[in-house]
Amino acid sequence: MRYVSTRGGAPALDFEGVTLAGLASDGGLYVPAEWPRFSEAEIRAMRGLAYPDLAARVMAPFVAGSLTDDELLAICHTVYGDFGHAAVTPLVQVDARHWLLELFHGPTLAFKDIALQLLGRLFETFLARRDQRLTIVGATSGDTGSAAIHAVAGLDRVEIFMLHPEGRVSEVQRRQMTTVLSPNVHNLAIDGSFDDAQAHVKRMFTDADVTGVLNLGAVNSINWARLMAQVVYYFASALQLGAPERAVAYAVPTGNFGDVFAGYVAAKMGLNIERLIVATNVNDILHRALGSGDYSASGVTPTITPSMDIQVSSNFERLLFDAGGRDGAAMAEQMRAFETSKAMQLTNAQAQGASALFASARAEQVETARAMQWAYRAAGQVIDPHTGVGLHAAKALAEALPEGLPLVTLATAHPAKFPDAVERATGLRPALPARVGDLFGRAESLVAIPGDYAASRDYVLGHAGRT
Ligand SMILES: *Cc1c(COP(=O)(O)O)cnc(C)c1O
Repeated sequence: MRYVSTRGGAPALDFEGVTLAGLASDGGLYVPAEWPRFSEAEIRAMRGLAYPDLAARVMAPFVAGSLTDDELLAICHTVYGDFGHAAVTPLVQVDARHWLLELFHGPTLAFKDIALQLLGRLFETFLARRDQRLTIVGATSGDTGSAAIHAVAGLDRVEIFMLHPEGRVSEVQRRQMTTVLSPNVHNLAIDGSFDDAQAHVKRMFTDADVTGVLNLGAVNSINWARLMAQVVYYFASALQLGAPERAVAYAVPTGNFGDVFAGYVAAKMGLNIERLIVATNVNDILHRALGSGDYSASGVTPTITPSMDIQVSSNFERLLFDAGGRDGAAMAEQMRAFETSKAMQLTNAQAQGASALFASARAEQVETARAMQWAYRAAGQVIDPHTGVGLHAAKALAEALPEGLPLVTLATAHPAKFPDAVERATGLRPALPARVGDLFGRAESLVAIPGDYAASRDYVLGHAGRT
């Protein structure tokens, strides 16, 4: 499979190349040159496969030329054989219509483990082949950081610098990053917002002072391999609910548009998805963009769903590129203008392409709490606030969707990652599962860094390659 940049100015790469590159050299994001498509018969034949086998089946077209079927299958068994639930992503029923897809059975209790555990293995495989080392620089609003750190801690050929906005991640999230005391792990607490941290990371990838001396890699959801791994659980859940004969709709708590874009990819591959509901909190740039075509950034409002407190959504560019007719030069122009003005209007083609599959809803904090209360009352399910935003959106749009259509809300984090918000909403304080161990008793390692770009860059340059 070959991959092209959304901005048309970077060389096409194979799967190994895009996995190691992350962001394209023209500032764009890599997408497959064309979407592989499964027939109905092929999808039907996936029924009953164990998760690792299904993962290998779904991802095979994307890795063709870079991994053999046997190599991919072995990696999938290693990665997904080690989750806290035998089904890896179990489906739980809430009522006749609503389901929760539990994506939090990995080591750091959020859906990001599903992709990042795989990415760690892919890095190891490809770097060994090339006899290279990789310096990962990432920004996190909480969950990416811990999942990435757990995915690469202790690897020989990879080191990681993870930037997080100081004081804006939960204590559980912080401790899941800072208590990993491996010498190849560096935690940087930035005096700024998540968007500042993300902007610094993006800039390092185009800063010759950095790229001249370090082989940089990305773990943010701009990395194609992550999105690819997330496509699998759309297949897993839809098959359980009757695909390919029966359609399914999904509500996805959304920040950077990675998880829900994986649903778009699943639909492109032939999965019978009726609707993808983009669920946002009050940081609602995507809700506005999908509703009226107005994609304009405003300040970030901190909420009880910090992993969705974003100003702009990096992966939205992938949708705009694909839905807008795959014109890299036009996309580059549109994004250049957006980077200057922080606002843009979707083209007609982009707006129509998006509205064919996507809908959106936005949750105020009180609506999120109400959805959490409902899940508990209706089914005894204690859900985290991100999942609450998703469930609110699913309920808000249920009436507008065909009767009898199953609605699956992606449960993106374990409730124990956000115990205060869960307790406020439901009166219950969720306990950490035994498998994460003594998180609050362990020593932490992190450095505080000023909010400007140079501070982060200089720290990385000063500490890279010494592990
Ligand atoms: C990262 C994250 C999200 C947002 O996912 P995107 O792929 O960035 O849209 C939602 N919920 C939780 C718990 C997360 O960690």
